[in-house]
Amino acid sequence: KLVEGEALRKKLHNTILELKGNIRVFCRVRPLLLDDAADNEPKAVSFPTTTENLGRGIELLQHGQKHSFVFDKVFVPESSQEEVFVEVSQLVQSALDGYKVCIFAYGQTGSGKTHTMMGTSGNDDDKGLIPRSLEQIFESRQTLQNQGWKYEMQVSMLEIYNETIRDLLTINRPGSTEARTKQYVIKHDANGNTHVSDLTVVDVRSSREVSFLLNRAAQSRSVGMTQMNEQSSRSHFVFTMRITGVNESTEQQVHGVLNLIDLAGSERLSKSGSTGDRLKETQAINKSLSSLSDVIFALAKKEEHVPFRNSKLTYLLQPCLGGDSKTLMVVNVSPAPSSINESLCSLRFAARVNACEIGTPRRQTSVKQLDARFSHG
Ligand code: ADP
Ligand code: MG
Repeated sequence: KLVEGEALRKKLHNTILELKGNIRVFCRVRPLLLDDAADNEPKAVSFPTTTENLGRGIELLQHGQKHSFVFDKVFVPESSQEEVFVEVSQLVQSALDGYKVCIFAYGQTGSGKTHTMMGTSGNDDDKGLIPRSLEQIFESRQTLQNQGWKYEMQVSMLEIYNETIRDLLTINRPGSTEARTKQYVIKHDANGNTHVSDLTVVDVRSSREVSFLLNRAAQSRSVGMTQMNEQSSRSHFVFTMRITGVNESTEQQVHGVLNLIDLAGSERLSKSGSTGDRLKETQAINKSLSSLSDVIFALAKKEEHVPFRNSKLTYLLQPCLGGDSKTLMVVNVSPAPSSINESLCSLRFAARVNACEIGTPRRQTSVKQLDARFSHG
């Protein structure tokens, strides 16, 4: 048993090392829903069947014009939650080996971000990435314990709305006096650890404990929703698990972080013109999403100044985005013909991120080529 576990661990580790580059972009197309009412429309999204780019390509048809994209992986509407998780499980595992990992779900509202991250049906087979990751982490912890590793895990869950952090695990009711006096100041220490003042951090020992906290966070999100008249799709949800491992015989230590992020809806400001709070919200969302791609871009170009401080989200995740950390962006798109413009915007954003690599360049692409690719799709 022990030997088996050790071999498995070595194999996993080597596979992780083989993963080239630190940033991956996956695309996931959700199934057509009844609400999409697309019966008489021509198909807007298709997948190339040629062997080249099989499972990696996607084509969008807009006003009779075809736009083709290639990503590290493309999940078709029939792809199950299990199939998606198989492709990210190694990345999740690397957090136990001491890596800092960020997994983002990006896309317009209704494209399947929450389905991908959490699951939306309540059906056990339909669990998303977050519950599956937690189960894997706690199972692996058990295996690694037999090899002398002792792990401690802590979680926090927060929401960033209009550039303001809200603690989703606090016992204070949102909007209450106690809640309002909280500062949530983000600080990074010399070891690359992030501290958010006043934020609730909970020690956890099982995936059941974390599930309980996830439910509480979901409740706290919906309470805030009615009280402050907003929708969860207008805020970023950030789940963070800090993992500390010590090997009792070798005294080796590892410090990993797993960040799982359900981003705010990426839809553009409508031309009819939003005003007031809605306008402010949309501007805050656009700003933080473009800051995220600016940061990834600046890291890829090895620029001296990386604009982490331009948004709360990028500043919060700063230590987990640079260096030898690992990032995965899952871009969710709807196949509905009525969503084609938004889907195209999402894929262009993703293509921009995909052409980058933090660390050593995976593809030798000049900035000019990248910009051209971004504007032409
Ligand atoms: P978002 O979080 O991006 O706003 P949701 O995850 O809430 O979108 O998805 C919108 C709707 O589509 C939900 O009813 C969800 O259950 C459904 N849905 C999304 N992705 C899938 C999928 N891969 N398979 C089946 N249903 C999906
Ligand atoms: Mg959602």
